[in-house]
Amino acid sequence: MKSIKIRLELNNEQSTLASKHAGVARHAYNWGLSTCQEAYKNNKKRPSSIDLHKKLVKEVKTANQWYYDVSKCAPQEALRHLDSAYKKAFKEKKGLPVFKKKGIRDSFYLEGNIRTENNKIKLPVFGWVKMSETFDLADIKNVTVSKMAGHWFAAFKVPYAIAPKQTKSNPVGVDLGIKTLATLSEGTIFENKRPYKKAKRKLAIAQRKLSKKYKKGQPQSKNYKKQQQKVAKIHYKIACIRKDSLHKLTTHLAKNHSEIVIEDLNVSGMSKNHKLASAILDGGFYEFRRQLGYKCEWYGSVLTVVDRFYPSSKTCSSCGIKKTTLKLSERTFHCESCGFSCDRDLNASLNLKSKAVSYTVSACGVPK
Ligand SMILES: [Zn+2]
Repeated sequence: MKSIKIRLELNNEQSTLASKHAGVARHAYNWGLSTCQEAYKNNKKRPSSIDLHKKLVKEVKTANQWYYDVSKCAPQEALRHLDSAYKKAFKEKKGLPVFKKKGIRDSFYLEGNIRTENNKIKLPVFGWVKMSETFDLADIKNVTVSKMAGHWFAAFKVPYAIAPKQTKSNPVGVDLGIKTLATLSEGTIFENKRPYKKAKRKLAIAQRKLSKKYKKGQPQSKNYKKQQQKVAKIHYKIACIRKDSLHKLTTHLAKNHSEIVIEDLNVSGMSKNHKLASAILDGGFYEFRRQLGYKCEWYGSVLTVVDRFYPSSKTCSSCGIKKTTLKLSERTFHCESCGFSCDRDLNASLNLKSKAVSYTVSACGVPK
């Protein structure tokens, strides 16, 4: 099994409901903790999570009507958490559990009839909730919902392979770009999202403001810290937008192609070219490869990573002749040898496709 965490796109009503669930979980945890502390004070044994839950249902739930608005799993799991926190504290000789505060690691747990369909997940009490990513999977046992930097996330476990090996027979080469996110050898282009550019501009402005507020060798002001948080939030937003578009790309690739050929982009090896290195880091190559890796496992596709010294950009995809120079500014690849001409990135992706194992080993050039 593998853990997956997906950002949820909750509407106002669902967002309120999520806060309520986290609130009940926190309340139950803190109540359980003070009950345990009381027991220790009176030299009594700490009540088990089951005993605590019974007591909670009898005494706390009836006195706090808002407990009835949320799934019963939320307080129950919170008490189980408390129990394991105590056990961990004794076993690893770590600090005893402390009271939870609102807004810090807000989370809750749900179990029951949970399933996904396209970009929606069905949760008990909530019903259908939108996710930031498409995910087809039936039968999820349980889910932990948590809040991070103003967004709610659902975490759950999925089996390693979700689709049977399909008879897809179309390898694809993928060229990750600077101007565009990716160019596929089939001709499809994945653009960089516009909100991404907008957020980047915003980040530059926010960072400038931050540096103006900075005082060297002095404790930083409240305003500085506030601005620092603003910058962190924009950083996070950019990461989210990037991740979203990468998810769309990697799902498309793994679902529709038998083999995906990519280039190994070694970022440290590119440090000579700062502009390119930052663009690649920005494009999130590691995240791209990580997502593609596990999605290929799910959808039964092969991921082939081509050596980073392979000159995918400089080679003519038509006749195979390698150019000695190719400027980064040359957007169109033109072969003097055979006269072939095409978009630079498409040419690179076609070269990568030709490196597909299933493509090259078969006879007569017919892919297996
Ligand atoms: Zn050529």
